[in-house]
Amino acid sequence: MFWNKKKIQAEKYEPEKSVLSKEMTLAFHALKRVVRRDYLVLPNVPMARVVRPFGQAQKDSQRRSLYKALAGYNADFVICTGDKLTPIGVIMIGEGGREVEPIFEHIGTRFIRIPTKGAANTDYLHSVLEAFVAKNDDSPKTLSDTQTVLPRKYCSKCRSEMIVKRARGGPWEGSLFWVCSRFPKCKTSELHKV
Ligand SMILES: [Zn+2]
Repeated sequence: MFWNKKKIQAEKYEPEKSVLSKEMTLAFHALKRVVRRDYLVLPNVPMARVVRPFGQAQKDSQRRSLYKALAGYNADFVICTGDKLTPIGVIMIGEGGREVEPIFEHIGTRFIRIPTKGAANTDYLHSVLEAFVAKNDDSPKTLSDTQTVLPRKYCSKCRSEMIVKRARGGPWEGSLFWVCSRFPKCKTSELHKV
């Protein structure tokens, strides 16, 4: 916490009507209806609250630079568990956050992009977030047997062939995913759109 030393002039402020824009307020309420009681929806969360550097980034300078790369990016909404506020999905409305999207793909936290016009549409959100509505606790960890589905798809990271698996457990239970055939060594995955 830090404060600007400049003297603050109280008479130059007026209260905001909302902490979110009108569009985002509508999206917030629609999301809340869709995830219901199982999860919380937090608006406008700094990305550095959702991911943190680890592994080689032991040195302070490395951590700082990794965090700095995230600074300025806020998730429009984060879906969290109700108890520990564990983030399980990042939601971006419109086009923001393209640059940080690969991080989330890599670490397996769902990154869900919702077109602006669908953001306040409960039916649309329901179809996109269906898996969250199904009550469960974590992202897909156990995956069932593979099926070969054409056309072929190759991992964006290691270029290995991707295979289709069905998530067993977690909020995406029952959903099909493209998963890198080197899983769990390579964790590239994406929702298989049927
Ligand atoms: Zn791969």
